[in-house]
Amino acid sequence: MNSAMVSKIEKARRYAEEPERIRFERFEVRFRGENDDHVVTLEGDSFTCNCHFFEAQGMGTCSHVMAMQRILSRMLSLEQQTAGMPFSFATA
Ligand SMILES: [Zn+2]
Repeated sequence: MNSAMVSKIEKARRYAEEPERIRFERFEVRFRGENDDHVVTLEGDSFTCNCHFFEAQGMGTCSHVMAMQRILSRMLSLEQQTAGMPFSFATA
């Protein structure tokens, strides 16, 4: 392997240990809930989920969104981390 590739691999390792370098702007995931699969999306600062709770409550959050906020916290802006929440996991 050439030395340029070796240094890229080393850099990738360092980057992978610093997830805060990454900011999600949008994504869509399939979330395997206890009863059903749900689709959670992020677009800008807003999450959506197609589960019944999210759609029925109109609060902009649900257990799937909150779980994604916890899992990805270091890769989300403060607005994304606290979207739809009465409090922030960042400060709780
Ligand atoms: Zn949901």
